[in-house]
Amino acid sequence: MERDRETGTAGSPIRDRYTVDDILSPRSVAVVGASEDLTKFGGRILKSLVQHGFGGAIFPINRARQSLLGIQCYSSIAAVPAPPDVAVVAVPPDAVIDTIAALAAVHTGAVIVITAGFSDAGPAGARRESQMLAAARTAGMRIIGPNCLGLISPANNLVLCASPALFVPQLPQGALGLVSQSGAVMATIFDRAMARGVGFSHCFSIGNQADMELCDFVDFLIADPRTRVICTYLEGVKHPDRFLQTAQSAYRAGKPWLIVKAGRTASGAAAAFSHTASLAGSYEAFAAACRECGVLIMDDPDAMILLAAALSHDPRRSLGAVSVVTTSGGSGALTVDRLSDAGVPLVEFTDATTDALRDLYPPNLAGANPVDMGAALGGLATGVETQTMDAVMRDGRTGLVLAPITTAPDITKICENLVAGAQRATAAGYSTPYIVIMQPGRAGDQAREVLRAARSLYSDSLDEAIRALAAWQRLSRLRLLPEALKPAVLPARPAVEALDGAVDEAAAKRLLSSYGIPVNPGEVARDADDAERIAAGLRGPFVLKIVSPEIVHKSDVGGVVLGLQTAEDVRDAAADMTRTIERRVPGATITGYFVQEMRAGKLELFIGARRDPQFGAIILVGAGGILVELIRDVAVARAPLDTATAHLLLDELAIARLLHGYRGAALDAGAVADAVSRTSWLVHDLGDRFEELDINPVLVGDPHESVVAVDARLRLSSPGAGETRTMRSSL
Ligand code: ADP
Ligand code: MG
Repeated sequence: MERDRETGTAGSPIRDRYTVDDILSPRSVAVVGASEDLTKFGGRILKSLVQHGFGGAIFPINRARQSLLGIQCYSSIAAVPAPPDVAVVAVPPDAVIDTIAALAAVHTGAVIVITAGFSDAGPAGARRESQMLAAARTAGMRIIGPNCLGLISPANNLVLCASPALFVPQLPQGALGLVSQSGAVMATIFDRAMARGVGFSHCFSIGNQADMELCDFVDFLIADPRTRVICTYLEGVKHPDRFLQTAQSAYRAGKPWLIVKAGRTASGAAAAFSHTASLAGSYEAFAAACRECGVLIMDDPDAMILLAAALSHDPRRSLGAVSVVTTSGGSGALTVDRLSDAGVPLVEFTDATTDALRDLYPPNLAGANPVDMGAALGGLATGVETQTMDAVMRDGRTGLVLAPITTAPDITKICENLVAGAQRATAAGYSTPYIVIMQPGRAGDQAREVLRAARSLYSDSLDEAIRALAAWQRLSRLRLLPEALKPAVLPARPAVEALDGAVDEAAAKRLLSSYGIPVNPGEVARDADDAERIAAGLRGPFVLKIVSPEIVHKSDVGGVVLGLQTAEDVRDAAADMTRTIERRVPGATITGYFVQEMRAGKLELFIGARRDPQFGAIILVGAGGILVELIRDVAVARAPLDTATAHLLLDELAIARLLHGYRGAALDAGAVADAVSRTSWLVHDLGDRFEELDINPVLVGDPHESVVAVDARLRLSSPGAGETRTMRSSL
C-alpha cells in the first residue's frame, strides 16, 4: 500500500488507512505519557522501545522534562517536529479523548491505546470508546486497543509494550505469531516461551478491539513470511463472518491457527428451553466454526506454544507415530501409558533401526520402543544417547521423538549427547521433530541451558507434551468442510406460517416429516374416547403423551405412558393421565392427548439445534435420553451440513462404536447421518424464525424403521421478529 506520509505532513486530513505492516515499521514513534519511572506504563514502554534497538525517531511527550533516557522530550503533542507514524498512549482515561484528538490533529498514523476503562468498564466507558473512535476516524487514524499492552515484534526490533517481561538483553526470534485479547496473557506467554528458548515473529495485544480487530492481525500474520504458526488467546469474536474467512485463508496458506478460547464452561448456565439448549452455548458454536475452517482449539496456552514450536519447522506435518527415548524404564512406561490414553500410536522400529541399536542394548531390549537408555550396555552419559537419538530420528516410521529425561548422575552430559544425536540426524537430512521432557527439578537446570542454547524444544511437563501431541493429532485430521449442497428432494421452505413460539410435538413432527425425517405415526386426541378411536386406527403397542403448553418435559410429570397394548388401555390411560396432571401440575391447560405408535430402538440419540447469535444455526448430535446430561457425548457443527459431514460428527461420539456394531450388529449409521443432515436443512431453512429444536430421542435400530424420531419440540420466533433483529444489527 502506498503510504501517505508526506501529504499527511502537508495537511491532508485523511491519511491512507494504516495497515499492521505500517504499524510494525514506523519511522517515528511518539510516547504520550513517557517517563523514566518504571512503575508507570509510559516508563516501561519508553525503556523497551529504546532497549530493543528501534532505529527510527522517538518523540517522548512529557510536559515536565527536557529529556528522558537522553532523548529530547516534547511538552505537547502539537510540539512534535513531524507527524508520528505511531503513537503509544498511556494517560488516564479522562485524558484519552483529548490526546487522541491532538494526535489526529498532527496526522498520526496509528495509536496504541494502553489505557483501560472503556468498553471494558460499563456503558459510560463504552460511550467514551465510541467518542475516542470517532475522534480517530475523522482523521483516518487507526487504533489498537484500548485496554491493551501493545505489541512485541522481535522480527522488526520493535517493542511497544508495557510489560516488564521485556527488560531482557535480547528477544528470541521465532516463527510463531501471537494475537491475544489479554495483554497480561500475551506477556506471560511471551515470557514463558522465552524461558524455554521459543521465540516469536510478532505478538499483538488487541484489547477491546475498538478499531483494529483480531482478523486484521491474523490476516497480517498469514501474509507475513516470518510467521509459520499463529497462536491466539481469545475471549470472543467480534465479526464472525470475517473470522470464518480469515480462518479459511490461514488453512489454505498452510499456517496452522491455534486458539485458546476462554468461556468454555459459561455455556452451561444458559436458561434451557430444552435439554439440548444448555449444551450449546456460544463456545460450542465457536468450536463448530473453528472445526469447519480448520482452526485448532486448545485449552491451555502452554500446550499451545509447545505445539506451535514443534510445528514451526514444518507446519503442514502430521503427527504420525511416536518413538520414546528415555533415561528410565519407569518414565518410559508412564509416557507410553499417556500416549496410549491420548490415542497417539507408538512406532514399531524398522529393521534398520533395530540393527543400529543392537550392539548398544541387551538382546531382550533391542528394538523395543520405548528405548530405555538407562539399560544400555555401556551405561548412561557414554554417548549411547547420541547413537540412539540419531538412529531413532532416521527411522522412517518415526513422526516425532519424545525424550523423557529423569534425574541421573550426569543429566547435562546426557542432554548434550542427545542434542548431538539430533544434530547428526538433522545434518543427514532426517529432521524429525523431537521434544525433550525435562522431569528433574533444579537438578536439570544446567541441562535446560544446554537445550535452550541448542534451540531444542523441551517441556518440564509430560502432561503438557501429551496435550500438545493429542492436539497435533486433531490438527492432522482437520480439513476445510465443504459447503453443503441442498438435496433437490427437500422442500423449498418449511411450512411454518401458522406457527409461533413453542411448537408442540405433533406440529414439530409434521415439519420433520416434511423434510423426510422419519417419525412414528400418531394423532392428537381431544379426550379419552377420542384417544380410543385414534388408537383403533393405529398399530399397537401405543404410547400416550400429554399435550399442554405449560408442560415441556412430559415424562417428569407423568405425561408419558408407554407400552399400552389395546385401544381400551389407551382410553383408560388418558383418563388416569388427566388426574395425574391435575394433581402434579395444577392449573396446566390440557389441550389434548397424543396417541402414537410405540417403537423399539437399540440406541437412543438426540439431534438438537439452536440459533447462535454469532454463528447462526448449529446442530448437536449425541447420546440421547438421560445420557444427554449425564455424559455430554455431543458433537456440534454449523447448519446446514451434508451427510458426509454428519458422518464425521457421528464418528466423534463415544457412542459411535455402538452405531458401528459394538458387541452386536451394526446399526444404520447412514440413516442417522441422513436424519442429521435433513434436520440441519430444516433449521437452516427456517432462517430468522428458528430458535431451538430438540429431537430427543431418535430411536436407532427399530425393526420397522432404522431411524425414527419419537419426540420433538421446536421454538420459533414470531414472524417479523427476525426482520427487526436484522435491521437492528445492520444499524
Ligand atoms: P419428554 O422428553 O417430554 O419427557 P418423550 O416423548 O421423550 O417425553 O418420552 C419420554 C421417553 O419415553 C423417551 O425418552 C423414550 O425413551 C420413550 N418414548 C417416548 N415416545 C416413544 C415411542 N413412541 N416409542 C418408544 N419409546 C418412546
Ligand atoms: Mg423427549
